[in-house]
Formats: sequence, C-alpha cells, structure tokens
Amino acid sequence: MPHAPRRATSGSRRYWKNRLLSPYLTIGELHLRLKRRELSCADVAQAALERIRTVDGRVRAFLTVTEEAASRGVAQAEARFRDGTATPLTGIPAAIKDNMCTRGIRTSCGSRMLEDFVPPYNATVVERLQAAGMVMVGKTNMDEFAMGSSTENSAFFPTHNPWDLKRVPGGSSGGSAAAVASGEVAFALGSDTGGSIRQPAGFCSLAGLKPTYGLVPRYGLVAFASSLDQIGPFTRSVADCALVLQAIVGHDLRDSTSIPDQVPDYSRALQTDIKGLRLGMPIEYFPPGLEPGVADVLKQAIGVLEGLGARVEWGISLPSTLYALPTYYIIAPSECSANLARYDGVKYGFSAHGGSNMWEDMEQTRQQGFGPEVKRRIMLGTYALSAGYYDAYYLKAQKVRTLIRRELEVAFERCDALVTPSSPTVPFRLGEKVDDPIQMYLSDIFTIPVNIAGIPALTLPAGFVEGLPVGMQLMGKGLSEETLLRIGHAFQEATDWHQQAPPL
Ligand code: GLN
Repeated sequence: MPHAPRRATSGSRRYWKNRLLSPYLTIGELHLRLKRRELSCADVAQAALERIRTVDGRVRAFLTVTEEAASRGVAQAEARFRDGTATPLTGIPAAIKDNMCTRGIRTSCGSRMLEDFVPPYNATVVERLQAAGMVMVGKTNMDEFAMGSSTENSAFFPTHNPWDLKRVPGGSSGGSAAAVASGEVAFALGSDTGGSIRQPAGFCSLAGLKPTYGLVPRYGLVAFASSLDQIGPFTRSVADCALVLQAIVGHDLRDSTSIPDQVPDYSRALQTDIKGLRLGMPIEYFPPGLEPGVADVLKQAIGVLEGLGARVEWGISLPSTLYALPTYYIIAPSECSANLARYDGVKYGFSAHGGSNMWEDMEQTRQQGFGPEVKRRIMLGTYALSAGYYDAYYLKAQKVRTLIRRELEVAFERCDALVTPSSPTVPFRLGEKVDDPIQMYLSDIFTIPVNIAGIPALTLPAGFVEGLPVGMQLMGKGLSEETLLRIGHAFQEATDWHQQAPPL
C-alpha cells in the first residue's frame, strides 16, 4: 500500500463493507450477494429507498424518486435471477440524470421549461439498462439543461456534496454524483459536454467516465451541444465503471453519430497489468495556479502508477490547451442556441399564454421558462452564429478545435494515456462562484479539451486535501476505454482512496 491505512470508522466504506447490506457496496459486491441469494432484489431496493429517505433531505441529489418503477424493476430482476438470465446489473439500484428520457416519468432537465414534461419514450441508455435488469430508483438533480459546474443552476434547488454539505458536488451531473457518493445508489448515469461527469466524479471521490464521442447512443438525451455531448457512468470503482459501460455502449440506428464498431469486453481488459504503459503529464495541466495540495496528490498518484510499472513521459506540452475554454464557449453556446430553439411553448414543455399573439406568447414562454445561465448561453450562441460574426467566431472556433484535436493525436503517438487533475481545485463552497460565470467556467479547464477532441477520459479518486476529494483524470485516444479502465483499475488495486466513505 502506498500510504498508511486509516482506521475504519463508521464513516468509512471498510466499516460497512463486510456487512451484508451496506450503502457503499460496489456493483460487483452486490451482484455476488444477489447471485448467492444472500440478499433479494427487494432487500437491495428497499435499502436504497431507505437510504434516500435518511440522507437525501441533506444531500438533495434527487428530483424524483421512482418507487413504482423500482418495484417493477425488482419484480423483473427477481425473475431474471430465477430463470438464470441475470446480468451483473440485474437488481442493482441506479439513478438517471434528469436529462435522459424515461417513459412515463418526468424528465425536467433541471428546468422550469420541462418541469412537467413526461416523455413518451425511453432514451436508448435507459432501455439498455432496463434490459440488463437495473432497478431505477430515481432521477437526479442537475444544472439547468446541463449548463453549469456546481448544480446550483438547477431551477429547483442545489445539491450538496456528501463529503462536506456546505460545498458543491460539482456539475452539471451533481445529483448523479452525490447519489452514488452518499450510498443512495450503486451507480448513476450522467452526461458530459465539457466535464459534467468527470468534474463531479472528482469532487465526490468517484469513478466517472466520458466515453469516446459516438460510443454511447445519445437518442433520448436532451440535447445541449450535440457535437460534444456524451453519456457515461458514475460508480464507486473502476471495475464497476466497466460493467455499466458494457451495458450502454453499442451502435444505435436512432443516433446518426453512433459508432458502428464491435464492442470490446471491458471487464476483461482489467485483467492485464500496466507494465510498460507510457503515461504523459502535460505541463499545461500543472500550472503554477493549481490549488496547493491538488498537485501533490497527483504527484503521489503518478508515483503509484510508476510503482506498478508504468513509464512516465515528462516534457509533454499541449500549448493549444490554452484555447480550449474560449473555443468551447463559442461552440457549446452556438449549438445550444440552435438546440434550445425548440422550446417555444407550442410543442411541449412550459407554455405562457399572457401575450396578445403567438409571438408574444413564445417570448414569454422563453423568458419565464429559462433561467439566467441558459439565457446567457443562448444569447452568446446567437451572437456567435449571426451573419457577419460567423467567420470571426464559430468558424474560427472550429479551426481551433481541429488544432486541439491534432495536438492530442500527436501526444498519443508518444503516450498511451495522459494523466492530469480533473479540476484545478477541490470542491468549492455553495454560493462561492454563482455570481462570477468566468470563475465557474474555469473549473472545467482540464476537462473541456477532451470533449473538443471527442476522446475518452476517466476520472477516479486520487486522494484528499483536508478531507476534500481530488480526482485524477486519464485521457486516451479515441476508443481507448479499455486502456483507461485498465490503468484506473490497477491504481485502485494498489490504493484505497475509492474505499473511503463520506462522513454522512
Ligand atoms: N460546466 C460546463 C458548462 O457549463 C460543462 C457542462 C457539461 O459538461 N454539461 O457548459
């Protein structure tokens, strides 16, 4: 072990681990107990719902708790165990970010605009998880339309970080991260357009994966910025991450950007060690402004990986990284301004009727239905796309996007993966950045290049600074999920950061 083991207190996962049913069991551990019939699917679902009742008043991870869907899921899961068709996800309690469509269950996207929207169909990922036998217990809170880094832009209420309730869980998938970190569910789905899985995973000490663009179908995901959006898992361990990924990947005819390739066996990839793998530490991701403590945690983590036989490549430089944030804040708002044009109060969602004609009704619908951050993005995007400005902003951003992608491709000729912090800071205080959009945007500075390049990246717990989690991000070239999961798993076999539980 690279560090002295701590005493197992009632707040630590090790304390709970050997109990038959603790809130902090991994999917793998739960599956074993279910398979051996030591626990029933009903026991596990009841425990999840009970945990939500006990802690969610403080954490506020859920927008909707779906007890009925859970009991339907339990009945189906029990049948799967009886007839021998159970998968590793059968009977496992899960939460879904509220921007993925769930048939018959409200999907609000964290917005007044969709507050009462009940989709008539399931997102592909929901369909696939149901086919694998998950038990959905609820829909999780998020920044409105996934725009934000703290979940404070939710139109309903902010979510709290289980590690320190005065701090943010990150965002925009903060509800999903907090639900897993607080032991309410074993896994959750989030979406990541600029960091919304990896930043909250880092802030809540979880594994979180942003897959290669096109690997996981986006059908049924409420669109934010279509060329950047990807769905991925939040889990307690990297091994669990492989299990959830396996269930949601694969070609989908209903998503034209979905990759038709054969799907590898992700859990199998974990069995190989990481001897000889080349890991790069790009200097731009370790700037002097990095919060003290974060760099130290990362250096120690890299030492662990070296100890496992990985070779560290020093002197990797990605100078275009500097332009990733401004590029993102042209591309993402531009695409969002087009995607959100559909919320006109006519087809679905909130509808205002106070105007004297159709145009005034539409105006009022959008004025009242969207929150301030969403409006800011629509205005930025509309401006960047308007005639006369298109070349100066959108076209230029697309060119820089190509530069960033090429620079990363070159780096991946020298390295199997790049290792960086997932965020420049530990979780910040609720309210600390709400009035300063630029400061808020800067919290995604290390995650955004990945979406711009369309490559995969995995965040996993790397340690703590004064009790607050620090995430390590592993980036790889397109479709290198197996390598990233393999490195992450090897790290978790040598450390126990992921085994710590918050003091809830
Ligand atoms: N925080 C970034 C934003 O506000 C990224 C959000 C996301 O990945 N959905 O746009």
